Amino acid sequence: MGYKELKMERKPVWDIIDEDEKQKAMEFADSYREFLSTHKTEREVAEFAIETASKAGFKDISSGGDRVIIVNRGKAVAIARIGKRPVRDGVRIVAAHIDVPRIDVKQNPLYDSSKTGTALFDLHYYGGIKKYQWVARPLAIHGIVIKEDGRKIDINIGDKPGDPVFTIEDLLPHLSRKAQYGKKIEEAIPGEKLDLIVGSIPLPDEKDAKESIKLNVLKLLSEMYGIKEEDFISAELEVVPAGPAYDVGFDKSMIGGYGHDDRICGYTSLMAVLDAADTEWTAITILFDKEEIGSDGNTGAQSRFAEHVIASLLDLQGELNYKNLMTALQKSQAISADVTAAIDPMWKEVHDPKNAAILGYGLPIMKYTGHGGKYGANDAHAEFVSLIRRIFNQNGVVWQPAGLGKVDEGGGGTVAKYLSKFGMDVIDAGPALLSMHSPFEIASKADLWMAYKGYRAFFEAK
Ligand code: MN
Ligand code: MN
Repeated sequence: MGYKELKMERKPVWDIIDEDEKQKAMEFADSYREFLSTHKTEREVAEFAIETASKAGFKDISSGGDRVIIVNRGKAVAIARIGKRPVRDGVRIVAAHIDVPRIDVKQNPLYDSSKTGTALFDLHYYGGIKKYQWVARPLAIHGIVIKEDGRKIDINIGDKPGDPVFTIEDLLPHLSRKAQYGKKIEEAIPGEKLDLIVGSIPLPDEKDAKESIKLNVLKLLSEMYGIKEEDFISAELEVVPAGPAYDVGFDKSMIGGYGHDDRICGYTSLMAVLDAADTEWTAITILFDKEEIGSDGNTGAQSRFAEHVIASLLDLQGELNYKNLMTALQKSQAISADVTAAIDPMWKEVHDPKNAAILGYGLPIMKYTGHGGKYGANDAHAEFVSLIRRIFNQNGVVWQPAGLGKVDEGGGGTVAKYLSKFGMDVIDAGPALLSMHSPFEIASKADLWMAYKGYRAFFEAK
């Protein structure tokens, strides 16, 4: 062989796959775009996962069987396909998160902005957003209100044809000189100025009363949803970008939309576990909540939900005891399926090009995440990285090496380190995005396809 073969080649997926596979990738992307357009909260995605798995013959774990669903408060869910080996030998997990940065409606949100002719919802952002990206754009409200008697009211307004939308307004440029232009970008729009305009007509009989616009909004909420102001205290309402996801580019090679991080991995890992052929190892896709705020809470990856899932599966096999549980956890292998940054064509300087993912070059493999000095990293062992690389190479999964930014440039974490606490081997692998954490994130359809293929190959490999 010539010396040239010693080099690692990185090529676009489009140059590697044949026409037939391109067709499959494009069709897969159509279904994903539909999904992304209509599922905008962790609850909506969890429900989608449960419904889709149910249609594929998976049943709630209470009914037993070898294809099971375990739900955690409608916000986190595990879909498991029992393999030929017993669970005590360890399992294969692909874990993604289904929460997305957004802006939540506060506990007591509604107010009448005195003498401005508007009523607003007070908001509190969730996760790492750049606040300036959320003003002056159409927004929708998705979520639930739980009435005092426990009844659940679904609210989903701003995305259906004929729906009104909502918006966070921004100051006009003419008057921004002192208020905004002289400030640092992160201070130009403080969190408390992210409030949502929800109405401007005063209640007819109360025209002269204080808070007459607020009263009119309350009247409408009562008519539309049967709720009153106190009900907001037990509500979870999320303000999200209104409108669908789109194909991007003349070649339609990309999808732009809200929530690729991390629903692109949620969707592909779900489809992978549903489609996996009879597997040697028990295959489990776990969709977590709360990753964007540190994986805390009992639906986040820092809870013991993963452990609960393995324990429940052992129980199903009549083998639940402490030793089997610890052994199964210790012997398990996991992919932390989360997105990473693609080299930004406008901001190349923040990346190390040799070690950064390129849009459309396949599924990024990340040995470690974290920040400067590898703090907060899981740092997969070389032995496990080798296994993953072997599985991908043997199954036509186009992959690429990746890391998040130059050393000392910043960084970020995933659920990887919370899974590795149990003793299992964990590696990060998920598609690379442009405009990550923005209301319009960009993903390549080629990488979407390779994520699906990669997670499925991991489940199916012996
Ligand atoms: Mn993520
Ligand atoms: Mn994120």
